[in-house]
Amino acid sequence: MPGALFVNIPARGHINPTLPVVADLVARGEHVIYCLPPEDELLIRPTGATFRPVANSFPEARERKGRAMSLSELPAAGVRGAIRTLPELLEIVVADKPSYVVYDAYCLAGRLVAQLADLPAVATYATYAFNEQVLFSVTSGRLSDPSSAQRGLPGFDEAMEELVAKFGVPPIGLLDLLLHPEPLNIAFLPREFQPAGETFDDRWVFVGPSLAPRPEAEALPLEHLEGGPVAYVSLGTVYNERPDFFRTVLRAFGGTGWRVVVATGNWVDTGDLGPVPDNVILRPWVPQLEVLAKADVFVGHGGMNSTMEALAYAVPLVVVPQQSEQRVTADRVAELGLGQRLDPGDVTPESLLEAVTTLASEPGVAERLAAMQKAALAGGGHDRAAAEILRFTGNLGPGPA
Ligand code: UDP
Repeated sequence: MPGALFVNIPARGHINPTLPVVADLVARGEHVIYCLPPEDELLIRPTGATFRPVANSFPEARERKGRAMSLSELPAAGVRGAIRTLPELLEIVVADKPSYVVYDAYCLAGRLVAQLADLPAVATYATYAFNEQVLFSVTSGRLSDPSSAQRGLPGFDEAMEELVAKFGVPPIGLLDLLLHPEPLNIAFLPREFQPAGETFDDRWVFVGPSLAPRPEAEALPLEHLEGGPVAYVSLGTVYNERPDFFRTVLRAFGGTGWRVVVATGNWVDTGDLGPVPDNVILRPWVPQLEVLAKADVFVGHGGMNSTMEALAYAVPLVVVPQQSEQRVTADRVAELGLGQRLDPGDVTPESLLEAVTTLASEPGVAERLAAMQKAALAGGGHDRAAAEILRFTGNLGPGPA
C-alpha cells in the first residue's frame, strides 16, 4: 500500500503543523507512515497515520533540556541524528515501500532517505523558508564566506565525514544543508510574514498556519478568565528554562485586573516560582489554541508555531526572543506592526505590564492583525498543503498499483 513517508525531528514546533496535513491526507484515502521516536506515538495516532518508531534524530536537543543547544551546534547534531536514524528509515522504506517522502527541512535524515531510496520528496518548513536572499539577510552577512562559517560549527566536519563514510553520499556543505529546495516546498507561514516572501519561486507554497483542534490531556478552568483582559504567556517547549522570567511575569500581573495563563514548560519547577497570584493560572503545559481563542495579548518567545497561532487568532504579541531566529521574528512582528519586541534583559514587571497594556488597546494594532489574519487564513493551511502534496504526487505519473 504505497503512500507517504513523513520524517521529522522530535520537536513539537516542527511536528504540530504537519499533524492536520497528515489527517487530511489520510481522510483523502492516502496511506501515510510517520516516523518519530516511540514517545511521540501518541501525537501521531489520532491522525490515522501508521506510526513507525525510529531513533531520535535530535537527542541532544531533548537531553539538554530547556537550555537547549546553541544554533551553531544544530548542524552537527542534525548530521549525527541522520547517521543514527537513516539505517532504520531505509529498512522502513524496504518493508513499507512508500512512494514519496515528506520531510521537515531541519531533518537531514528525511532528505537523505529520499535521496538514497530514489524517492520523490516534499520539504516542509515549520520556520522560515530559506533562499540565498533570506539566508544572507537573516544571518547579517555571516555566511558571506560559507567555508569559514562551516569551520566555526563545532563537530560539523567530523560528523559529515562519518556520514559520507557510512552511507556513501557526497559531502554536504553548510550552504547546501541550508538551501536545498525540493520540487515542492510547503511553508507553514503566510508569504506576507516571510522576509523577502516575493523572492520565492513557484516551487514554494506558503500555506500559513496549519491548525486543527488538538486532543489535550488536561482541560484548563477557562471560566477563570472571565471578567478582565486575558494575557497568555509561554516560552514554548525548547528555550524555556527561565525561572527568573516567570517570576517577573507573576510580579507584573499579580494584583492587576488581567486574567493570566502561564505555560512554564517541563524544565522549570513551578514550586520554585513563589506564590501564584489569584488571577494567574500556571501550568507546565497549556492547551494553547483554546487559550489564544480568549487572549487579548500573547507574551511569547517568537517560536514560529506560537507566532502563527497568535496571528490566526489575531492576538497581538509581545515577543521576548530566546535565540537568533526568534529575534528575527520579534523584529518582523514589530516591523509589521503586530506587536512589540522586548529583549529578555529589558523585561521588568513594569516594562512587561506597559507593553501588554499598550498593545491590547492600540486600534492600529488590531487593524493590522485583522489584515494579517486574513492573509494567513487565505494561505489555505493544512487543506492546501494536503492538496498540493496530492497534486505533486499525482504529477509523478502512474505509481505502483
Ligand atoms: N504548545 C502548547 N502548549 C504549551 C506550550 C506549547 O500547545 O503549553 C504548542 C504551541 O501551540 C506550538 C508548539 O507547542 O504549536 C511550540 O512551537 P513553537 O514553534 O512556538 O516553539 P518551540 O517550542 O519550537 O520553541
